[in-house]
Amino acid sequence: MRRPLVMGNWKLNGSKAMVTELLNGLNAELKGVEGVDVAVAPPVMYLAQAEQLLADSAIKLGAQNVDTHNSGAFTGDISAEMLKDFGATHIIIGHSERREYHQESDEFVAQKFAFLKENGLTPVLCIGESEAQNEAGETLAVCARQLDAVIQSQGVEALNGAIIAYEPIWAIGTGKAATAEQAQEIHAAIRKHIASYSEDVASKVVIQYGGSVKAGNAAELFAMPDIDGALVGGAALDAAGFAAIAKAA
Ligand code: PEP
Repeated sequence: MRRPLVMGNWKLNGSKAMVTELLNGLNAELKGVEGVDVAVAPPVMYLAQAEQLLADSAIKLGAQNVDTHNSGAFTGDISAEMLKDFGATHIIIGHSERREYHQESDEFVAQKFAFLKENGLTPVLCIGESEAQNEAGETLAVCARQLDAVIQSQGVEALNGAIIAYEPIWAIGTGKAATAEQAQEIHAAIRKHIASYSEDVASKVVIQYGGSVKAGNAAELFAMPDIDGALVGGAALDAAGFAAIAKAA
């Protein structure tokens, strides 16, 4: 039985006041909620503050990126050791915004995946197609290519304990979520692709959906057999809304 994960990706949003208000709100809203893992990924500037606010909470702490080195002359980068030092466990890699604005290749994302595993952290590996790729019928080929960069370099067992977030780029931040049926179809295809390497790994790996998930569409998405929670952007910035999504899982 897979345990769903609902994770908030705060992106480049936050202030000290906002972090306190949002995490206090989530701690109150989610107290005693069972059957779902919940995580938040604030900007790294706020990890220390978030670690303190979540000290007695079941909510897990995450981050939005990592470098592939633990120390050295890598100006501006953040290491896995540093993330661990602040209690972060779930680290988003390969988000489409990083692939697009920072030219992160499938191979580089796969290196980050390996680095997180080596350091005992949980990769949340984002995959997904653009609108043009979707219209050209290339959705599964794109997702398979992004996954294969990890599987073929590290073996399919590398996916054990990791999280996959299927995020169609056309649905991110647009208010135009995939329908539950559309998302289920591609989640099942992704799982089938992984099963071509290992049925055991495929049956266990958590595959989240991401792209305009809100309180209003979460239950329908989570009712699908291959959708194991969500990676949430905009709606993760509101405690009541994000908590409602988590409770729907
Ligand atoms: C995201 O950026 O990971 C995301 C899913 O954003 P949104 O929920 O705002 O579409």
